[in-house]
Amino acid sequence: MARGSEPILISGGGIGGLITAFSLAHRGIPVRLFEQSPEFKEVGAGIQLGPNIFKMLEKVGLKEAVLADAHVPPAQEMRDALTGKLITRIPLGDDFRRRFGQPYAVTHRADILATFLKACQGNDLIQLETSRRVDDFADHGDHVTVTLNNGETVRGRALIACDGMWSKIRERIVGDGKPRVSGHIAYRGVLKKEDVPADLWRPDVILWAGPRTHFVHYPLRRGELYNLVAVFHSDHYEEGWDAEGSKDVMWQHFKMQVPEVLRMLERIDTWRMWVLCDREPVKDWTKGNVTLLGDAAHPMLQYLAQGACMATEDAVVLADKVAASPDDLPAAFKAYQQERYLRTGRTQIMARIYGEFYHARGVAAELRDMAIGSRTQEQSYDGINWLYGGP
Ligand SMILES: Cc1cc2nc3c(=O)[nH]c(=O)nc-3n(C[C@H](O)[C@H](O)[C@H](O)COP(=O)(O)OP(=O)(O)OC[C@H]3O[C@@H](n4cnc5c(N)ncnc54)[C@H](O)[C@@H]3O)c2cc1C
Repeated sequence: MARGSEPILISGGGIGGLITAFSLAHRGIPVRLFEQSPEFKEVGAGIQLGPNIFKMLEKVGLKEAVLADAHVPPAQEMRDALTGKLITRIPLGDDFRRRFGQPYAVTHRADILATFLKACQGNDLIQLETSRRVDDFADHGDHVTVTLNNGETVRGRALIACDGMWSKIRERIVGDGKPRVSGHIAYRGVLKKEDVPADLWRPDVILWAGPRTHFVHYPLRRGELYNLVAVFHSDHYEEGWDAEGSKDVMWQHFKMQVPEVLRMLERIDTWRMWVLCDREPVKDWTKGNVTLLGDAAHPMLQYLAQGACMATEDAVVLADKVAASPDDLPAAFKAYQQERYLRTGRTQIMARIYGEFYHARGVAAELRDMAIGSRTQEQSYDGINWLYGGP
């Protein structure tokens, strides 16, 4: 097989893996992707998409397809969960688009994954394989091999690990042990629009900040669904993203909050639970012909709503570097890492700080409300420009 036509291998077919496959193929580079699950699937929950992801999606021609299923909220609001008082309202309309050049949207995880999957399925340079777990790999200098769960050994030009927070490949590339358990836990649920009390349905992204808790809700899928995420402090640990959460445990943390919060929380019968983890930022996630991407490279807490946005930025930057240096993939991977690690590291660190900020109590909460409540619209935009104005 000619070197240029030998595929780059990708392990993991989540949001990061699929957009990486598509971005590479879009630049004419063949890929072969292995997903361990029997199908490409996302958990039932919403995802916020900052203007920075749309800049990337526009480059690979997927912006309109993602927006077609999404909801574009008119504003983000932060409210005090104990008093109901509005702390700040940030408009996301024309002024926001003018400032950042792109919209802010919210969508169902399954919808964005389906868009990426359809794009991949329509590209002849992409081979997608499910029920294929990558168990091991070897870098032979001028190519790599991976060993799959069925014992098969597959050869490729290089390997990109998009295998998420608990990446096995990261163990050998970075070797920094298990993810850090944050002590925060998220419960999520999705309602049909008609199941949301009419006086509580809002087109905006609303965040209720409470002591050691916050609660976010917003519409999904062109407004047909409604996404709810309740976060509180807990030392519970369970690997993965889909365990069932106890309603009684959650209620203990929210019961003193305003009726708008409680009435909304009461609507969900079965909560699914995420134990929130991240890692310390690192700058070396590439070794020879193997590199990491998305949560495998820089898992972050969700408080800036950026993990999938960062994975998408990674994918497009990586494809640019590979296209610029097609005969030297170790150099292309290093150049990708070099361009990404400070931005993703800053986002990892800032996400932790935003978490503290949302969950502030007492004097700290008062100071937060004063600081962000007194900002003008332009000052709010300036404050997030480092993130939304990039990459
Ligand atoms: C509560 C919460 C809210 C969030 N909200 C937002 C938000 O609003 N906006 C945003 O941008 N981000 C958000 N995120 C972050 C975002 O969900 C993640 O950053 C993103 O999904 C990471 O994608 P990934 O493809 O890197 O990893 P994953 O989604 O974890 O995908 C990894 C894939 O690899 C597969 N896999 C694993 N091991 C193997 C193997 N050995 N072989 C083959 N396949 C394998 C898995 O089955 C999976 O399909 C949120 C996260 C949480 C927890």
